[in-house]
Amino acid sequence: MSQTTAELEALLMQRSLTDPALLQAAENAADFRILPDASVIKIGGQSVIDRGRAAVYPLVDEIVAARRVHKLLIGTGAGTRARHLYSIAAGLGLPAGVLSQLGASVADQNAAMLGQLLAKHGISAVEGAGLSAVPLYLAEVSAVVFSGMPPYNLWMRPAAESVIPPYRTDAGCFLLAEQFGCKAMIYVKDENGLYTANPKTATDAKFIARISVDEMKAQGLHDSILEFPVLDLLKAARHIRQVQVVNGLVPGNLTRALAGEHVGTIITAD
Ligand code: ADP
Ligand code: MG
Repeated sequence: MSQTTAELEALLMQRSLTDPALLQAAENAADFRILPDASVIKIGGQSVIDRGRAAVYPLVDEIVAARRVHKLLIGTGAGTRARHLYSIAAGLGLPAGVLSQLGASVADQNAAMLGQLLAKHGISAVEGAGLSAVPLYLAEVSAVVFSGMPPYNLWMRPAAESVIPPYRTDAGCFLLAEQFGCKAMIYVKDENGLYTANPKTATDAKFIARISVDEMKAQGLHDSILEFPVLDLLKAARHIRQVQVVNGLVPGNLTRALAGEHVGTIITAD
């Protein structure tokens, strides 16, 4: 049953914000998606952009072709330069919030470069994709580039065991897709998807085509191909109930994933 605004408002005014009746009423409120026709794609930092021209140019071609039929929010990862910064800053005893700012600057650099490559096609890189002119860009040219790091900066919630910021660009792109109620979240990386172990070091690793968050955790894969907080974000999500990780080094994979094909690993909320 859909709650009326007046009923919801009455509950909000009278009760504590964690009151069960209030939470249920908010849960029952009619669904609203801000950008339901847009797909978010994350172009990996270490896995794609750091490989330079060989990896990036073919993806630029796919993006330019795909935006004729899709609306694309294109987020960038950070990668090797961020890892270098994290190791120096951690060695200097600096906190997670400072490392988060440093990592964001690298994702910004990647967004700036991708934006320049797409500029002649009318596709811009924007700062602060948290709305601003994003709907206008999508309406006019069907694509926009943003920096994937979530803007927590100094307010990054630290992890218990290390100063590496837990919410990085996988999480930033996911949260954008979820808050905007987008159609799909696709991670473009350098492996066919999830394996039973890191395929870069385990030669006997087996490919997993489809898996749920709970199964991933049960198999000890919660910190593997996606940043670990993404799994909990996915499980609790209202709109994005699955993500796909694809190999962007294989031509055509991004195009097929955007068309809804299963070409990599699909990770489901339940
Ligand atoms: P991004 O460039 O988007 O930040 P990452 O490099 O962080 O991507 O993540 C992708 C990498 O995760 C792969 O290149 C792979 O080496 C590694 N990885 C670790 N464990 C696994 C696993 N079980 N299955 C697939 N990839 C894994
Ligand atoms: Mg990563």
